[in-house]
Amino acid sequence: PDQIFGPGRKNSAGVDLTDPLVRVPLMERLNQMRELTHEAQPTERAKGEHPVRRITSPHDDRIEVGVVHEATEGAIDRAMEAAADAQPAWDQLGGRARADMLDKAADLFERDAELLFSMCIREAGKTLPDAVLEVREAVDFLRYYASEARAKFTHAIPLPGPTGETNELRLHGRGVWVTISPWNFPLAIFTGMLSAALAAGNAVLAKPAEQTPLIAAHAIRLMHEAGIPENICQLMPGDGKVGAELVAHRLTAGVAFTGSTETARIIARTLAEKTDGPIVPLIAETGGQNAMIVDSSALPEQVTRDVVSSSFQSAGQRCSALRVLYIQDDVADEMLRMIAGALEAQTIGDPRDLRTDVGPVIDAGARQALRRHLDWLEHHAKPIMVRELPTGTEHGYFVPPAMYEIEHLSQLTQENFGPILHVIRWKAGDLPKVVEAINSTGYGLTLGLQSRIDTTRRYVEKHARVGNLYVNRNQIGAVVESQPFGGEGLSGTGPKAGGPNYVERFATERVTCIDT
Ligand code: GLU
Repeated sequence: PDQIFGPGRKNSAGVDLTDPLVRVPLMERLNQMRELTHEAQPTERAKGEHPVRRITSPHDDRIEVGVVHEATEGAIDRAMEAAADAQPAWDQLGGRARADMLDKAADLFERDAELLFSMCIREAGKTLPDAVLEVREAVDFLRYYASEARAKFTHAIPLPGPTGETNELRLHGRGVWVTISPWNFPLAIFTGMLSAALAAGNAVLAKPAEQTPLIAAHAIRLMHEAGIPENICQLMPGDGKVGAELVAHRLTAGVAFTGSTETARIIARTLAEKTDGPIVPLIAETGGQNAMIVDSSALPEQVTRDVVSSSFQSAGQRCSALRVLYIQDDVADEMLRMIAGALEAQTIGDPRDLRTDVGPVIDAGARQALRRHLDWLEHHAKPIMVRELPTGTEHGYFVPPAMYEIEHLSQLTQENFGPILHVIRWKAGDLPKVVEAINSTGYGLTLGLQSRIDTTRRYVEKHARVGNLYVNRNQIGAVVESQPFGGEGLSGTGPKAGGPNYVERFATERVTCIDT
């Protein structure tokens, strides 16, 4: 219902793929877009020699989706200076005018939704249902942060004046933010960080993941079409070197990063060692070692559905994805049989095919790391279900979805970002030990709980150190404004994306005190 969100705002409806009258013509149009190619380049116009790189489809590396012209050092300097010059006027425009442009951008994302679906599928290897969710989330971020800009960046906030003075607090942009976004949500997270920084009155240099610059380039085009000045919102495509230069730049006033915990630490170190420019805040959203706890009161069909979607949807390439299933001994055999059966029924293959449930992983490096982990599991764990890859997947970056039983969580020393589920059995009465083991990883992103026992839920709520707890449902797919997303500890700094404390963190606060 509309009224659960702020006045006049509702989340995007997306596309009903269960309706053949919608699905069939959409598939036809997506098929017609298969041959399209795209281009990404730095927004700044000064011509330079930008090295060019081909972008190919994760499901078949013979298919070229487009080319990217990467930002050079000179381009970064020019872009920074132009952004810093333009930012004060953007800040002074006020929250309402900025919000109108972000809302307009949301409309344009919806106008181009089918092209964006097609790009998510071909550039990032997403299935169509995932692509639909991705575009919805991007649109929701735009409209939600627009509503935040209207509410918090339009008027001064009055404060008490106990001795007769007038006190007012105002939020302003900090300057130029650098956003560094991941390939697993090449549109939604890219747009989320970018639009929050813009809403708060900042200029932004947005660096997309090196694997997915094309869809980001289209998002930037739509932001400009919505009226956001070019110098205020710039694309900086490139590899980690471009990211490092942006972070270290003297004009950088804030960094928002979503990606690995390791990279977040490198960014924090770079910012700490800067000797010129402002002291720079970092917002980092990083990895997880997410668990689900299942007890004997859980409903087996529900557990099966929720485990399969939490672990294998998006080929397990979500930071929220379930990695470690803690299942109570008494019900483990029956439930694991059902989950293995459901995994066996998943279709692996070309994400352009609507029947596909599990597509490729992003690139050769990801495939290699996951294969290495599967090798390790083969020697150190008990297989429950390991899928064979079907023929036709030879040219893509596919990893066989798998479930293995392990003894202890401490055997897993890193996040494995793919379709691999680890299972650990636990005994009735051991809930505190299970929660302690999960906490002791140091990560704190998502946790699933399947239980009908209230005291169990209350115990977990009280003791689990995680950002997002999901009870009796899957643990992926946080919805903007309803389930603000983000973790603690090794999983990130907060604030939560899509939540009520997010946009302010991109701002600086100024107080005026007027005496009588
Ligand atoms: N927000 C996404 C979800 O709830 C995950 C984001 C991520 O993978 O970074 O599934």
